[in-house]
Amino acid sequence: MVGVDGAASAAVSSLIAMGARAVAISRPMVSDDDMEAALEGCAFAVCTAEFYRVNRVARRTGLRWTASHSSATEVVLGPTVYPGETACYVCYQMRSVACSDDPAAELAALRRREPTQECPTGVAGLLGQMLALEAVNRSAKGAIVVVDAVTLCSQRHAVLRVPACPICSIS
Ligand SMILES: [Zn+2]
Repeated sequence: MVGVDGAASAAVSSLIAMGARAVAISRPMVSDDDMEAALEGCAFAVCTAEFYRVNRVARRTGLRWTASHSSATEVVLGPTVYPGETACYVCYQMRSVACSDDPAAELAALRRREPTQECPTGVAGLLGQMLALEAVNRSAKGAIVVVDAVTLCSQRHAVLRVPACPICSIS
């Protein structure tokens, strides 16, 4: 578990309740090597922060992982990244901007998301439990799952790889 907010705490609690061995990585990482060392031995990583760093490390190590973000009214799980097989986090970012009706606003929103994203208290538990379930189910493999926190309706959107991605197209 990479993150320090309420969703990260809820995810760790849920994983332990499910009988999984969960490790919270909450100290600041100063390099990719630090993150790689911290994640060594992990079978899967669930993240509420450090997405770009984890994405680079996962590309090097093959670690499977999932990202997440949220607002007061929406929770987004994924994409769950299988390095070399699915879209990576940077692919997702590029697709998000390219497919937006307002690419400049979408890019600004993406920049706000890192590195100090805080999950709103009202949806922290929901996101934490979704992250814990994703560690087992991988329902967001190569996709994002968007949950409306008001109606609890959800939608799954596939995320395609970007052939020119600077992270995952380099072999
Ligand atoms: Zn990529």
